[in-house]
Amino acid sequence: MASPLLVAQALHKAYRMGSDRLQVLRGCSLRLEAGEFVAVMGKSGSGKSTLLHLLGALDVPDSGQVAFDGETIVQAEPKRGTTGASLLRVLAWATWIIVLPGILLSSLLFLVLPLVLGSFVLAGALFLICVISGVQMFITNLNERERVQMRRRQVGFVFQFYHLLPELNVLENVLITRQVGCSLLEWLSRRTEARREAIDVLTRVGLAQRLKHRPSELSGGEQQRVAIARALIHKPRILFADEPTGNLDAEAGAKLMALFAELHREGQTIVMVTHDPGIAQHADRTLLLHDGALRAE
Ligand code: ADP
Ligand code: MG
Repeated sequence: MASPLLVAQALHKAYRMGSDRLQVLRGCSLRLEAGEFVAVMGKSGSGKSTLLHLLGALDVPDSGQVAFDGETIVQAEPKRGTTGASLLRVLAWATWIIVLPGILLSSLLFLVLPLVLGSFVLAGALFLICVISGVQMFITNLNERERVQMRRRQVGFVFQFYHLLPELNVLENVLITRQVGCSLLEWLSRRTEARREAIDVLTRVGLAQRLKHRPSELSGGEQQRVAIARALIHKPRILFADEPTGNLDAEAGAKLMALFAELHREGQTIVMVTHDPGIAQHADRTLLLHDGALRAE
């Protein structure tokens, strides 16, 4: 049997508001095969969005982990006292204790010693600074960088309130996500291809005739289609949708579900959160989030 695409194990998550602590997830586990369409149901406030954000690497849990294709991509940040955090503290001190006096000393040497030897010591000190701060940055950002990479390459998000940029037209709203993270040169070389891909994906969701419209000139259902196109342009391995029909009337909601069903038939893996059983029934299986844990419906 093929290995699962996504495995979440014992996810715990609490929110802290001052001295209050709200435990939302209490050991959520999930196994998702490629090509599945799963719905997560639960009452308002049960933690569905929280769970989706952890699964899609938008946030980190307090404990537990999420593995994508067998590789752990989301886990709790290292706490004080763990190896990563201790190493970080040692490096931070090393920067100050070794490097700063090093620079002072080498600057002094630069003045009193022959030019060549002085420059040699100065270059050594600068090299040390680079190495130490490089390692520091590497450790600090390791988890965050991996999560960002994973989000960019592997997952797409669709939210209840579309989150489109009002000043941009439909095509630009989709294109801008391709532009993010590109250098100017990269973008200039990729722009034509990205534009073609954006038009293809907008045609795919039925918006070929709306490319120049602003979001305010579209219906709710059309705005959500733009958001779906924006997620699909990255060819995500998983499409996460958080109450995608929550703001739509019944007819627009049904049309959107028809689109999801079509995407699913074409092989798109989908995890959709909803509180509406009528919407959840479009999925292959439904999981219920209750008391901070997931169980099959
Ligand atoms: P659902 O999507 O099922 O409605 P959420 O995951 O949005 O639930 O929220 C679960 C609970 O956590 C809610 O009670 C909500 O008020 C609380 N919550 C969500 N996000 C935060 C946050 N960033 N800070 C504090 N509390 C939060
Ligand atoms: Mg929610």
